[in-house]
Amino acid sequence: MANFNTHLNGAFAVSGVLGLTVYKAGLINDSGFLMCVALGTIGGLLPDLDSDNSTPIKLGFNIASFIFAFGLVMHWRSELSLVALIALWLAGYGFMRYVVFRLFTSMTVHRGVIHSVPYMAILGLGLTCLNYYGLHNPLSISWFYGLFLFGGAMVHLSLDEMYSVNLSGMTLKRSSGTAMKFYQHKDKQWYLLLYVLLALLVYAAPPFAPFWEQLRDPTHWAQLKVGVLPDLIDNLNR
Ligand SMILES: [Zn+2]
Repeated sequence: MANFNTHLNGAFAVSGVLGLTVYKAGLINDSGFLMCVALGTIGGLLPDLDSDNSTPIKLGFNIASFIFAFGLVMHWRSELSLVALIALWLAGYGFMRYVVFRLFTSMTVHRGVIHSVPYMAILGLGLTCLNYYGLHNPLSISWFYGLFLFGGAMVHLSLDEMYSVNLSGMTLKRSSGTAMKFYQHKDKQWYLLLYVLLALLVYAAPPFAPFWEQLRDPTHWAQLKVGVLPDLIDNLNR
């Protein structure tokens, strides 16, 4: 199992690079970029959210809550008054810190269930639905938020998987194959519940096709190609 710092850095690095890529492609704006990186980083911490390794997780969650609150304020900075923004900041922080975090730590009994692909898929899809239906965010940003959260969590599970491989002899340790979990027989009722929930969310989720079309739109990637390297060619031509 990878440790807390590895998870924090790994998720931050991956979501940072991916976030920058879609940002440079013009698919998300400034605040969207910030939120995507924050959500990816939070996602990278979520699977280990249990009371056993409390201190670093709590610290990480505190920081993540601050970033989340900051992202919220950035998102609505032009529409809301100063007082409303301060209230939003506090509410956002409090929501993450005292509602979301509590909710997770209260479910620690079933660690094996949290540390799994379907659980994280539910969180990602849930976030997409919340953004699209609840906060009335545009379709693409709603999908990006959910995917970054899910992606961060997948970075976490992959890191755990990699760390369970004994690199010196390339032999598999006993813990191998348990990180990237889709199902575990001893928790079969829990997994049944998870997959039912997931199916409901897939059914209720906002349409994916228009988002996918937008993602595949070549104009975005042409724009990215222009901006991917410093203006070397320009300088050489001069
Ligand atoms: Zn883990």
